[in-house]
Amino acid sequence: MTPTDTAAAPITVQGACPHDCPDTCALHITVQAGRVIRVAGDPSHPPTHGALCTKVSRYAERTYHPDRVLTPLKRVGRKGEGRFEPVSWDEALGAIAVRLKTIADQDPQAVLPYSYAGTMGLVQGDGMAARFFHRMGASLLDRTICSMAGGDALVATYGAKVGMHVEQFAHSKLILIWGSNPITSSVHFWNFAQQAKRAGARLVCIDPRRTETAEKCHQHIALLPGTDGALALGLMHELIQHDRLDHDYLARHAEGWPALRARALQWPAERAAATCGISADEVRELAREYGSIQPAAIRLNYGMQRVRGGGNAARLVALLPCLVGAWRHPAGGLLFSASGWFRHARHDGWLQRPDLLAGRTPRTINMSTIGHDLLREASLDFGPKVQAVVVYNSNPVAVAPDSRQVARGFAREDLFTVVLEHFLTDTADHADYVLPATTQLEHWDAHLSYGHTYAMLNRPAIAPVGQARSNADIFRALARHMGYTEPCFADSDEALALGAFKAEAVDLQALATQGWARLPIADAPFAEGGFPTPSGKARAGEAPGVGVPDHVPNYESVQSAPELAARFPLAMISPPARHFLNSTFVNVASLRAAQREPLLELHPQDASARGIATGSTVRVFNDRGEYRCKAEVSERARPGVVNGLGIWWRKYGLAGTNVNELTHQRLTDMGRAPAFYDCLVEVQLA
Ligand code: SF4
Repeated sequence: MTPTDTAAAPITVQGACPHDCPDTCALHITVQAGRVIRVAGDPSHPPTHGALCTKVSRYAERTYHPDRVLTPLKRVGRKGEGRFEPVSWDEALGAIAVRLKTIADQDPQAVLPYSYAGTMGLVQGDGMAARFFHRMGASLLDRTICSMAGGDALVATYGAKVGMHVEQFAHSKLILIWGSNPITSSVHFWNFAQQAKRAGARLVCIDPRRTETAEKCHQHIALLPGTDGALALGLMHELIQHDRLDHDYLARHAEGWPALRARALQWPAERAAATCGISADEVRELAREYGSIQPAAIRLNYGMQRVRGGGNAARLVALLPCLVGAWRHPAGGLLFSASGWFRHARHDGWLQRPDLLAGRTPRTINMSTIGHDLLREASLDFGPKVQAVVVYNSNPVAVAPDSRQVARGFAREDLFTVVLEHFLTDTADHADYVLPATTQLEHWDAHLSYGHTYAMLNRPAIAPVGQARSNADIFRALARHMGYTEPCFADSDEALALGAFKAEAVDLQALATQGWARLPIADAPFAEGGFPTPSGKARAGEAPGVGVPDHVPNYESVQSAPELAARFPLAMISPPARHFLNSTFVNVASLRAAQREPLLELHPQDASARGIATGSTVRVFNDRGEYRCKAEVSERARPGVVNGLGIWWRKYGLAGTNVNELTHQRLTDMGRAPAFYDCLVEVQLA
């Protein structure tokens, strides 16, 4: 079972899906004569039981894709043009090291590493890379782009990002699928929800969009974007009024309830309904069900927290299980993220070596304001102008908000940009050097999950394709060229992967032999409280640094910005297109063909008022920019809200645009995250 095995008989190698998806599937990679012939799921892995989504079951197509970058490339065209010539590794690494050294000698904070979840691996994510940038003293990156508003909300409420075991949803009797479209983005959770449905459970989807999931639930509540906190308060009001509370659970396992109770009493069903754009009966009926059906579970996902008040809203929703004592049951409670369960299991300090900073405290740059920050001059407040960006596991020109400004930043002629990539993405097109990175089939890694409670190991199934090298290997080589001699730069990828988890927290024997190991967590971990806060109680009222949770209206709404709403009357959300995963897979021909073209869904009322039909080319615009795409007139959109499905690479979009032309760089109330779904637009025929 080695990557160099060329025997004719197929072999199976254990892996883990690296993508930004809560399911983190265990993989079985079949290899014959050194080539991957099949990527399948591991049927013995309890939370994912052998099934893969269509995206990753075609992973071999992505790995052997004819457009894959297989040699180091040096730019020969203008920035953004995507014209390169191949160069040797020695030439590329030597030139990069000289440039980074020159900048770092002046001020290492002028170098910015930019990365996210292109791989979720602990080794190829921020193992050797973190060591490298810590040693240099480069700027730190605040990794906020996805889930920080809700993540900080969970930490404020419960002390960590912890929740139910995903498998337990199969036994729930009521499931609220809140801000999530699992048929697209978490298929294994959806399998458990389907099991529950077959056993008689009621499924309610809460989402502005009538998603594929919403269609298959018993009820869909299509609230306006950014009003989830108001709905949660309305539900609390009803639970209080009809005394559907678990007083004992609240008294023993929550603190600050009187303050939250007082707030909730300001939100009768009519007020909540008017704010959410739904009926008061929908609020009342949902509260009646939630207060009377046990076990009741909430699958809260990231869409709802991508608005100005996302943190407050996530706190409010997350507290609902305390009101009805749902945590008492293994199949009750809430799952937002499971990643906090791994907080004591990861060997982060050893992997990332923050001690290499040697007392330096570099500034931190928020990845969500990269467009703004790449265009800033040096100042006392900001520090040095950013002179070099090293991008890995991310495609910021496509995925960061306000992408017109992001592209302007990356187009700076004086900015030195290095991109580690599989393909020439929108961001790679702006690079001075592109370095070919391995895919998950070609390297070691270790993974936690944010959707289940299993540590995972990924072994290389094949040798690197072309001249590709793993991220860790690239940073190891760069360290050598920079003259960094610390022994930690000699650690192999295999050693990093096998050492990523602590022996006292993870069954390393099971991890090594079967590729996954369940964390030892009780089935109903909070049946008797014991949340990871200092008191062991949930924080229902104030929490460190934040007040009693409340509904916070969007930056861009009729209430908060009436003049803006008069010019741009439609709220836009930008959920993922079904066949893409963020911006990954957009270049896989079969998946792009399935997705057809960049689409904006409009409700028939909004479409007819503008003379727009399905198939029309439209311009979607606001003061930040203009996005060209095709219209789909559909009741998937509710009146007043349009759905711009993302995230297309700009170069595959119409007129070189994608939906992030329209989003802004203002941040959420908690977590310093982008408010992608807090965005007003107008739509016209192009
Ligand atoms: S993207 Fe998600 S569902 Fe698909 S294989 Fe990876 S972890 Fe599994």
